[in-house]
Amino acid sequence: MDLNLPVGLANLDGSRSVAATLHAINGWTELHWSHQAAGPDTLSGVLQACLTRLGPHRGAGLTVAVLDQLLPIDHAWLAAKLLRECWGPTQYLSLHCTNPGCGARLDFTLDLDAIEPPALSPADLEVALAVGGGLRFAWPGVADLAALEGLDEAAQGAELFRRCWRADPDRIFAPPPVLDADERVMLARALKAGGPRLDLTMALECAECGASWGLPFDPVGRVRDLLRDSAGRLHREIHLLAWNYGWSRREILSLSMPERKIYLALISDQLRDDPKRG
Ligand SMILES: [Zn+2]
Repeated sequence: MDLNLPVGLANLDGSRSVAATLHAINGWTELHWSHQAAGPDTLSGVLQACLTRLGPHRGAGLTVAVLDQLLPIDHAWLAAKLLRECWGPTQYLSLHCTNPGCGARLDFTLDLDAIEPPALSPADLEVALAVGGGLRFAWPGVADLAALEGLDEAAQGAELFRRCWRADPDRIFAPPPVLDADERVMLARALKAGGPRLDLTMALECAECGASWGLPFDPVGRVRDLLRDSAGRLHREIHLLAWNYGWSRREILSLSMPERKIYLALISDQLRDDPKRG
C-alpha cells in the first residue's frame, strides 16, 4: 500500500519526504522477529523488511539507520498500517478492569481504518525553549531517543543538544551556546516529553462496576507483542499448509501473511465441510 507519513524524513533543503510503500510481512520476517528479544529496535528491523520505498530511499538504501531517523509519530503510523495489512482492520483486545476490587475482564475492539492522520504544521516540528535564551530544536527521532539510554538527565540534555539543536541561520558560524546542568536537564525533559504524537486513546467502560478510563493504544508495542507470540502458531500453520498442499517450508514462509491466511481459511472450510479429510 502507498501511504503518507504524518511528518516524514527531513531533507537538506528543509522539505520533508512523506511518501512510503508498505507491504505485509512474509513468514520469514515473522519467524525471524518471533525469535528476537522484543526491544525498542524491533520496529525498524520489521519495517526494513516490508517497506519498499521511503521518500528517496529504496531497496538497499532503505536501512535501519534511515528508519531510525523518523520521529516516534511516524513509527506509530507505520506500525498501525502494518497491523492493518497483516492482521486485519479490527484489533481484538482484552484487559482486566483497573478498578480495585472489580478486575472484570473487558473484551473490546479497535478499528484501525477509523484512525485519522494528525494534522501537523511546520511549526509543530520545531520547538523554541527558554534554555540558553530562545534556542530552537527539532523534535528527537527514534535514534536520538535510543541514544539516551543509560545517561543521566544532564547527559541526556547534552546529547539531545548535539543532535537536535537548530543553529540560527544568520549566525551559523557563531560558537554553539553552552548550557549549565539545570538547563540541560530542562532540555532533556522538554524534548523527551514533547513532540507530535499519534493519540490513540480508547474510552473504556466496565459493564460490571461502571468504572471508565482512557487506555492509550500503542501500535509499535502491539506489533512487537503479536510477533513475539507468533512462533508457536507459525509452526502449526507451516505444518497445516505442508500437509494439505505439499509445499516446502521455504515456499510457505515466502507467502505474505494475508496470502497464508487465505489458504489456512480454505483448509478450515474444507475440514468443516468434510471432517474426515485433513
Ligand atoms: Zn470493573
